[in-house]
Amino acid sequence: MSPNYQTRRAKLRRALRKSDVELDSLIISGVANVRYLTGFTGDSSWLFLSSTSCVLLSDTRYETQLADECRDIDVEIRDAGRTINDLAAIVVAKAKSKYVGFEADHTTVTQHGALSEKITTATLVATSDLVERLREVKDQWELTQIRAAIEYAQRGISVVRSSLRSDQTETEIRYLLEAAMRSFGAAGTGFEPIVGVGPTAALPHAHAGRRRVAEHPVLLIDWGASTDSGYRSDLTRVFITGKPTKQMELVYKTVLAAQQAAIQAIRPGAKCADVDQIARGLIARAGFGKYFGHGLGHGFGLEIHESLRVSPISEREFETGMVVTMEPGIYLPGKFGVRIEDDILVTADGNEVLSNLEREFDEAIVPILA
Ligand code: ZN
Ligand code: ZN
Repeated sequence: MSPNYQTRRAKLRRALRKSDVELDSLIISGVANVRYLTGFTGDSSWLFLSSTSCVLLSDTRYETQLADECRDIDVEIRDAGRTINDLAAIVVAKAKSKYVGFEADHTTVTQHGALSEKITTATLVATSDLVERLREVKDQWELTQIRAAIEYAQRGISVVRSSLRSDQTETEIRYLLEAAMRSFGAAGTGFEPIVGVGPTAALPHAHAGRRRVAEHPVLLIDWGASTDSGYRSDLTRVFITGKPTKQMELVYKTVLAAQQAAIQAIRPGAKCADVDQIARGLIARAGFGKYFGHGLGHGFGLEIHESLRVSPISEREFETGMVVTMEPGIYLPGKFGVRIEDDILVTADGNEVLSNLEREFDEAIVPILA
């Protein structure tokens, strides 16, 4: 199986035709969006797409790579004397495009200024989320990549889990985890792993520091792997490395119950905000409402946070083929935090939990080596 870039571009062309302002072309400058539509793994390059043309605008550094990675599309290479805006103006004029969209989320004000100075034959129109929306629903090949990214992450954490030592620091665990994932075939981490002992685990986005495992019974690890093709996984587990208090057990079991109830509700047509409320309501009824401040989940794939957000303010619905995380948490400042995160595929008749690491409280209790 291999990725079908032509199908993806055909879908984007359909989306262009359906856009509010009738765009006859689009300049794609988001790095992950360009990769999604062409397979090109470099950066600083734009894709120009109209109903009849498809041109990658790049520079001499990427000439050889482009010949290898993007055989089925035209390439315009600029030399040091021209900017990418010059190339854009040339292809827009050549395509006789009148309304050319650009990606507002991936264009700085400065870039927009420079681009509009060069493009004199067409009107530039700001667009948002056109490619990101397509990327929300994964194709079969993408799912094989995401499953591989989950597999690397799960094998990696099993190495960490079975070798936890009381004097190990958060930073040491982070590097061990990354090395283990790479040794199993991962291209690297999906993002900088969060490894937090006790009070550090109470900071939802803490990074690995110098706390040692023995300092506190709660160890939170939020990690993922990436594949050579650029796809990622995103998981969180809490390990209980010492004698847990009743409060730790209650918090853990509340988070897990919230996650499981939310996952149960995921199916095509279900509203993201409703699924969020299932988890949020359960945590609130247990008395921890003010300790869960972030959204319940997010899409992921080529990037670790992609456009579908599962939160109280989301107006979206789940669709078959979407992949999202489910990650409720409870964070008690100065004490500890618990988050449990799994990766979920929305299927025609409900969902499939793609990650299958142990998650029951008893299974979270792990022996540590002295
Ligand atoms: Zn995560
Ligand atoms: Zn996440």
